Amino acid sequence: AKTIGIIGGGQLGRMLAIAAARLNFRTVILEPQADCPAAQLANRQITAAYDDPMALVELADICDVVTYEFENVPVTAAETLAASVPVYPPPKALEAAQDRLVEKRFLNGCGISTARFHAVDSQADLELALEDFGGQGVLKTRRLGYDGKGQKVFRSVADSADGAYAALGAVPLILESFVAFEREVSIIAARATDGTVVCFDPAANVHRNGILHTSTVPAAISAQTAEAARRSAETILAALNYVGVIGIEFFVLADGSLIANEMAPRVHNSGHWTEAACVVSQFEQHIRAVAGLSLGNADRHSDCVLQNLIGDDILAVPDWLRRPDTLVHLYGKTEWRPGRKMGHVTTLTPKSSISN
Ligand code: ATP
Ligand code: MG
Ligand code: MG
Repeated sequence: AKTIGIIGGGQLGRMLAIAAARLNFRTVILEPQADCPAAQLANRQITAAYDDPMALVELADICDVVTYEFENVPVTAAETLAASVPVYPPPKALEAAQDRLVEKRFLNGCGISTARFHAVDSQADLELALEDFGGQGVLKTRRLGYDGKGQKVFRSVADSADGAYAALGAVPLILESFVAFEREVSIIAARATDGTVVCFDPAANVHRNGILHTSTVPAAISAQTAEAARRSAETILAALNYVGVIGIEFFVLADGSLIANEMAPRVHNSGHWTEAACVVSQFEQHIRAVAGLSLGNADRHSDCVLQNLIGDDILAVPDWLRRPDTLVHLYGKTEWRPGRKMGHVTTLTPKSSISN
């Protein structure tokens, strides 16, 4: 492959374009927003909607393979493209990840535990579902949620459900049982066209206001728990005949067992540390996979903490730049707003003896 198409022009597309350029690939992004983070780094932009028929024909025509940087690419667009050019990860992975109900059924079908759940398509459904879960649970839109948006937490029977179905938009919802987790971890894994799977070490994730704040590696989990995360990743990737990088989020219970939360069929925010602490980053790994190359070495040479720069965190960049132990990565966004991801920093420390 010489030219890689990337659907979506956000910071993940930008970082994929950088990784692609380093391996002599050209990139073309499909993104309706002209002044997007990836525009500055890709060789070309097709400025059109993700499902614009003419744009899809053009993309298929000029690319040797097409990938994407967000999980809400219209499945019909991915399937249209797949008729004339390889699309990796396969459109089936988009279908499994776009709808939380389909996703949980898929995971359970793979023998992977999730929170218990009920589909909620009305206020009456919600009340029945909450009753089943003793008044506790997390209500989420089935589609399009990110950074904790489109969610409502019920902590006890005292939390009123009145109007909650309408408040989340009267769209298809899911009520998940509340998981009393000890920590959250994620694993970034890659599968090559020949079926080889390589996993990065699991990261421990801490959220702030629903947005990923830090990812710490190594995660304080046992070797068995880390191995269970790797096995789940392998199962999921094989079931989807997957090619590319995937990010899978888990809750860790007190006994060390894992409950899968969600998966993203793309490079993942909790894997940004790999560019600083591994020989090959998740971005290069994804480019290698979709381009049909051999996967790179995912071993970690350092311990690290990734921290997102959200909103006015960007003002601290001069301080971060003074630190000799920190890699700063900015996304080219000219305006900051509260909650907007502006960049990230990864602080390295010598690798500890704990390695999972
Ligand atoms: P992301 O930005 O990671 O895509 P999202 O909006 O898709 O997030 P989730 O990952 O489903 O949302 O949930 C966000 C956070 O809310 C989780 O990381 C976790 O901290 C908490 N959470 C979600 N579901 C549950 C649950 N069933 N029980 C307890 N906590 C939960
Ligand atoms: Mg999500
Ligand atoms: Mg999540």
